[in-house]
Amino acid sequence: MNYISVAVDGPAGAGKSSVSKTVAKDLGYTYIDTGAMYRCVALFAIENGIDIKNDVPTLIAGLDGIKIDMRNTGDGQRVYLNGLDVSERIREEDVSVGASDVAVIPEVRVKLVDMQREMAKSANVIMDGRDICSHVLPDAQVKIFLTASIEARAKRRYDELCRKGIECDFEKIKSDIAYRDKNDSEREVSPLKKAEDAVLLDTTELCFDEVVEKIKELIINVV
Ligand code: C5P
Repeated sequence: MNYISVAVDGPAGAGKSSVSKTVAKDLGYTYIDTGAMYRCVALFAIENGIDIKNDVPTLIAGLDGIKIDMRNTGDGQRVYLNGLDVSERIREEDVSVGASDVAVIPEVRVKLVDMQREMAKSANVIMDGRDICSHVLPDAQVKIFLTASIEARAKRRYDELCRKGIECDFEKIKSDIAYRDKNDSEREVSPLKKAEDAVLLDTTELCFDEVVEKIKELIINVV
């Protein structure tokens, strides 16, 4: 059986995961959040006292001890790191910044990309990240680059954290996003950039439902 792969790339806070989750649910696809996997590696480093920027060899040596599971439950997708549910913890700002730092390490990327490709072999998937269109699933039937202005992205992240009751500061969120944009787009391995054959969707002026509908149209056109 040939499965459909939908690849969604874009910068932090563009709405990739919430939009992809909804599209996946509506169409009965499996949603794969690759950012959560980089976040798990960062959390592993933080919990084990590994200095991500200055002690890369120790992190690489620990990679085989990292087991990541993504399970779809009635409560949405839950993420497990070595058997523990870390779904909420990996959304905190220290892990967000750490994820962008571990993502520049080639050995980390090789491990996670292998896992991601395996996952796409056995189901119709919507996978979101930074390098999905260009590197992880270059043969995906639908490729989308989702973006928005940095102001809009910071505001969405701020509102999301406030809704969850997590204390946060707008300017700090904006500067963290700017740091991650720079890290993600300037790194040597698989930098964030729109693949030539990806459809550009700028969501600055669009509401959530409009973005979901546009993506569903793109998918329905190819299946
Ligand atoms: O998508 P999310 O913001 O959760 O991703 C966290 C970090 O993981 C990103 O800032 C990026 O550095 C890294 N990442 C990546 N490649 C992916 C997904 C995420 O480099 N495919």
